[in-house]
Amino acid sequence: MEMREKGWLRAGQVRKRVHRTFQAGLDLVFPPQVGCLVCGGDLLTRGIIDLCHHCLERLPLVGDSFCCGCGRPLPPSKTHCQDCTELQHFFVQNRAVAIYSGPLKEQIQGVKYRHDRRLGVALGEVMGLVAKRRKWIPRGAHLLSVPLHHQRLRQRGYNQAELLLQGIERYHNGPILKPGSIIRREATDVSSKLSPLERRRNLQGVFFVPRPGIVAGKVLCVIDDIYTTGATLDEIARTLLKAGAKEVHGLTLSIAVSDQDLLNTAATARGLASC
Ligand SMILES: [Zn+2]
Ligand SMILES: [Zn+2]
Repeated sequence: MEMREKGWLRAGQVRKRVHRTFQAGLDLVFPPQVGCLVCGGDLLTRGIIDLCHHCLERLPLVGDSFCCGCGRPLPPSKTHCQDCTELQHFFVQNRAVAIYSGPLKEQIQGVKYRHDRRLGVALGEVMGLVAKRRKWIPRGAHLLSVPLHHQRLRQRGYNQAELLLQGIERYHNGPILKPGSIIRREATDVSSKLSPLERRRNLQGVFFVPRPGIVAGKVLCVIDDIYTTGATLDEIARTLLKAGAKEVHGLTLSIAVSDQDLLNTAATARGLASC
């Protein structure tokens, strides 16, 4: 009797395993239909980006006229925003794909705080496509993501900038630096309550390059989810240059803008490329 039961058990396990293998094979040949990662709607461009047309159209993309320094939308008559006129950046330039507002703001928060990893990669794909069309990644540049402090990485389980980089990778054939090429030594408070100067002071010496040989002589492009005051990108650029990097550029999914910038955005959509 006992033997029979054991036999049945084994047969059940075998059946389950066969079913699983069969299902995996089916998924390979006929991948399961995946809807838009934001609204669940139909994907017209299946296999390209897991976002539907409607959600892609609602992304507040930066127009043709923006600050040559940080990528902030500007009226076509200007080449640099006030920040970039007053500050000498350590990075050569940053380019931002979209404005940190509306649905994109919610999506970024979803990636950061609601563990929506797949959406992170999909937004990275959008970054990769836009950056490729607009030639925003310098030729031969090595890409790397802004690091998280190890405690925060443990809490969250992933680095959102790394997810974006995974998406970009699908459209970018260039070299990528592994996580750990630059590390964050302190979980610094970069709350928006701090003044831009305090943010910069707080970040000084926070980043560290364990093996300078990896970055020495290279043109680098740093990937992040948001550009606010540029303090983080500047401190990373300063650290990488000190370790011997040739040039540091930035590419962010979004950029924070003031109400005035938003008013200017309508004009920039029809403006000419300023840099
Ligand atoms: Zn959608
Ligand atoms: Zn600027």
